[in-house]
Amino acid sequence: MSIDSLPPLRDVMERHQLMAKKSLGQNFLFDLNLTAKIARQAGDLKDQPVIEVGPGPGGLTRALLAQGALVTAIERDERCLPALDEIASHYPGRLTIISGDALEQDFSALAGNGSKPRIIANLPYNVGTQLLVNWLLSEPWPPFYASMTLMFQREVAERIVARPGSEAYGRLGVLAGWRSEAKIAFDVPPQAFTPPPKITSSVVHIVPRAEPLACDAASLGRVTQAAFGQRRKMLRQSIKSLGGEALLEKVGIDPTRRAETLDIEEFVALANAI
Ligand code: SAM
Repeated sequence: MSIDSLPPLRDVMERHQLMAKKSLGQNFLFDLNLTAKIARQAGDLKDQPVIEVGPGPGGLTRALLAQGALVTAIERDERCLPALDEIASHYPGRLTIISGDALEQDFSALAGNGSKPRIIANLPYNVGTQLLVNWLLSEPWPPFYASMTLMFQREVAERIVARPGSEAYGRLGVLAGWRSEAKIAFDVPPQAFTPPPKITSSVVHIVPRAEPLACDAASLGRVTQAAFGQRRKMLRQSIKSLGGEALLEKVGIDPTRRAETLDIEEFVALANAI
């Protein structure tokens, strides 16, 4: 069954001789039921703006467009542009393609004056975490986007939703927990991708909090980096360069505790005290 009358993705790949490149984190999705499921996870997309990073040959892009979205897609691999142009012609005025590196893109400039865009992407693994951190640290807050629905390696997804006390809890969990509500929506097995990666992936749905605890993002970044950089050590040692024992006592945190035992409120208190 087809969601549009465009040719099957495998044919598109063959016609444009698109061999996946590992250096660009290319693991493509050809299953249109799965791409539709990812798109649905982001909610009702009818006439809603969507930003997609790394459309590749356009599997997820086609699902977004079929559900009525207005898509702006940023792709670094120029080999994919002819295939994306074909999709754009099929959906006149609904797909804008930007050729370039998402890490250098000013995403807030892509948001128009109407509804805030949703960010939806099967992210390239090599830059996915960096992009997420950039979006979580967006200023001003509330951010330029309404939500993010993103594919990550399962291990990264677990770090995003991690709670204090767990192995996976670290800088990513504190930043995500501070500014958003994040949940793992569903897992995607390796064989769903071409070529299959070695590990399971997960789709994470992230909704920004309207009013996160007041905190300077850069200070929170510094505290979490120091604390989790030496996560086995007591905090008085790991955050010594930021004020160590005196700082911890100032905010009423036992200096012999370790980073993974601190909840988000405590990290915010520390960040506000440095
Ligand atoms: N969305 C497609 C799909 O689901 O089949 C492709 C996903 S693939 C995991 C990641 C895509 O991101 C590739 O098309 C790759 O070329 C692109 N990409 C890699 N690094 C990028 C970057 N820095 N900026 C924009 N796109 C990038």
